[in-house]
Amino acid sequence: MTAASSNNESPQPGLYIHIPFCLSKCGYCSFYSIKSINLIPAFLSALKQEMKFYSNNFQSFDTIYIGGGTPSLLTAKQLAEIFIAINKFYKIESPAEITIEVNPGDVSADYFQSLRSVGINRLNIGIQSFNDNLLKFLGRRHSKKNVLEAIDAARTAGISNVGIDLIYGIHHQDIKLWKRTLQKALTFAPEHISCYQLSLEAKTPLHKKYGAEGIKIPKEEQQAKFFLATSEELENASYIHYEVSNFARNENLKSRHNIKYWQHVPYLGLGPAAHSFLNNKRWWNKPSVKNYLREIAQGKMPLENSEELSIEQLQLEALFLSLRTKAGIDLERYKTKYGTDLLVDKKTIIDALVKNKLVELSNGSLLPTRAGMAVADSLALI
Ligand code: SF4
Repeated sequence: MTAASSNNESPQPGLYIHIPFCLSKCGYCSFYSIKSINLIPAFLSALKQEMKFYSNNFQSFDTIYIGGGTPSLLTAKQLAEIFIAINKFYKIESPAEITIEVNPGDVSADYFQSLRSVGINRLNIGIQSFNDNLLKFLGRRHSKKNVLEAIDAARTAGISNVGIDLIYGIHHQDIKLWKRTLQKALTFAPEHISCYQLSLEAKTPLHKKYGAEGIKIPKEEQQAKFFLATSEELENASYIHYEVSNFARNENLKSRHNIKYWQHVPYLGLGPAAHSFLNNKRWWNKPSVKNYLREIAQGKMPLENSEELSIEQLQLEALFLSLRTKAGIDLERYKTKYGTDLLVDKKTIIDALVKNKLVELSNGSLLPTRAGMAVADSLALI
């Protein structure tokens, strides 16, 4: 039995579009983006070409995620252009989840109204913090005032699925201050909350700053405290902690698009640095707008590289990704899809994890406990 070949379910693929522009670079960010917004029109033309390239491999999507970068640097008209092209080359299956990431300082109720009119029905607002000092430290170009105005504008425009991103573990932010941030977030009753631990990626300005000033990110034990406090606080407020960093107000408000990444569902990524996955193959584009434009103008795919995943790689990825989710691993499904009976092959280690209360066996699934989720990345090393 080959990997994934026997899976009878055929969920719809997802479409990701990377908008590779930011007006300034946040201190912690390692995502690909450039400041040359004068290239946006050329980028949009190339993007349409790239959609055409893939129209034989992908026919329809039921989730679309416009990320970046800063997609809210695009005007409503430019976003409408993107959706005209998507509809030209693909079918958007209903009911579709269509998300855009926005920066709080860029938006207004009118802008959100226009997003709704092109079909966007879900927002991800990059709030990160409600504290001006911490926002400044992170190098964000928005303020607390912008955050409050953005949330208000989203609700005024009638957007009913609003997600927010927050960061913890920032220098000068203790657990008490972090809990206040969560309490503040809860006053807006967002449909979705993502809480990310600040990580110091090599070559980022914050990495250099931490090194030069001898500042340290919280140690593992402290990070676990932040994680557990976040989980407790948001679960007490009735949010579902459905993935290590993600919380939804109810089952229907989980990110359908991100779940595809965690379940090896095919997805097409367009734009510089975007990744795609289909038939156990992953490929990704060059992280360079210049090369992207040049290669597409020459009629070529702007590929950086690709890899065919072996059954062992797929098994490991599935373990790694599933043990980060509350749904865990459906053992029968895993066996059918990846050809391994974990209860037999990993019996000793699973018994030890159950004994240490890091995972539970329930209704044929292996589920991480809250303590297990706190160390999810090491659980997958079983
Ligand atoms: S806005 Fe987002 S993508 Fe742009 S630099 Fe900041 S964190 Fe990175």
